[in-house]
Amino acid sequence: MCCKKKQKHLINDNRKPSSGNPLSALDGTTVAIKDNICTSFLPTTCASNMLRDFTSPYDATVVKLLDEAGALIVGKTNMDEFGMGSYNAHSAFGPVINPIGHSKKEKRSAGGSSGGSAASVAMNMCTAALGSDTGGSVRMPASYCGLVGFKPTYGRCSRHGLVAYANSLDTIGILTRNVQDCAKVYDIIAHYDVQDPTSIPNELRHQLDDQQQTLLSRLQQQGNLEGLTVGVPQEFYVDSLSPQVLEVWRNGIQHLKDLGATIKSVSIPHISLALPAYYIIALAEASSNLSRYDGIRYDQADHQLLYEATRTHGFGHEVQRRILLGTHVLTAGTFETLFLPAQKARRLIQSEFNQVFLQPNLLDNDTTKHGEADVLLVPSATSAAPDLDRTSSTESGVDEYIDDVMTLPANLAGIPAITVPFKEKGQDYPIGLQLLGQYGHDKFLLHVAEQMT
Ligand code: GLN
Repeated sequence: MCCKKKQKHLINDNRKPSSGNPLSALDGTTVAIKDNICTSFLPTTCASNMLRDFTSPYDATVVKLLDEAGALIVGKTNMDEFGMGSYNAHSAFGPVINPIGHSKKEKRSAGGSSGGSAASVAMNMCTAALGSDTGGSVRMPASYCGLVGFKPTYGRCSRHGLVAYANSLDTIGILTRNVQDCAKVYDIIAHYDVQDPTSIPNELRHQLDDQQQTLLSRLQQQGNLEGLTVGVPQEFYVDSLSPQVLEVWRNGIQHLKDLGATIKSVSIPHISLALPAYYIIALAEASSNLSRYDGIRYDQADHQLLYEATRTHGFGHEVQRRILLGTHVLTAGTFETLFLPAQKARRLIQSEFNQVFLQPNLLDNDTTKHGEADVLLVPSATSAAPDLDRTSSTESGVDEYIDDVMTLPANLAGIPAITVPFKEKGQDYPIGLQLLGQYGHDKFLLHVAEQMT
């Protein structure tokens, strides 16, 4: 965690003196912030040499909301450069080591790209941390570090002040040690923001709240999960799932059954298109977003060394690779053969999710086609935390991309997803399971997650 220069007000100087009443349920709670979320009182580096000396002139909306609620921002956290990675091995400040096995001198990955946020919560350095989740960057570190990691519905939390990786997928996420703390942070940061053009308008927020309220109230009264249907999508049984993950998944299904839920096997036939579609769309958007780093703006000192030299020194290897791939995807010819089919695959996956959920997606024009599931249960990662040495030896990067296969479908669909931690007997490292909900059903998902843990 870094909180070096300019620590002028870790607590807002302008805050009214407390009258003895807490400002909110988060008053006095310590929160760390991923270093791609802007803070005016601490640098925002995105773990890149490109932004090594950059301090934002303003606070991200989520930071402002936390501050106004009385939360104590304790520092900024390491990450994969610009959010690009799954193991937090691509950072200008070095990798993040998973704190769980550290005493054994083992160097396992804390997961990425929000690895620093996860490690700081796992080490009890703070109660909660904000991360960002474009394709799993909150849920995968949560799985590796034994935490709760929540990616809300796209548009629920403002992205104003989140440094863009891939705008149509980027979501602010929350890491905590339990679901109750996660829900408290969510309540503070999930509001409409006029400064984010993709923020869900208040009218739709009310409709979404009404839609999830009936079942939520019933479950709250019952105190168990009777009447809840949990879908288990068969296509998530992929060859790369480790035997431990399979066992945890099986036990998770049984656990939900024991709590009264009904389990149904469901299908999202085109889920195999999610991985290629994600890496085409995310990299195309990234190549466009990162074109603003030209060596003139954002404080990069030497204005002589414009494009070529600045980017060679400013960006790490993985970011350079992704900019090149993304630029290729957007060139004439490839745009039609890669980018447009990827967008079509994304729509198809979104509509297949809508067909398995009982409640319709209020953004969907066709609200008639629907299935039976209230939530879905899938693994959060294909294995427990991998060795950091293994993660840095994958030259092509493809293995790292493949590891996102469990998490990125929720980003493509824009739906909420939460990792909850599990650890079976004899297992050294935790493994997380993910609950996925219909668009906008964040509170409902948090309630089911709370019952499950
Ligand atoms: N591992 C994915 C990627 O590198 C997801 C990263 C993220 O969610 N920020 O694109």
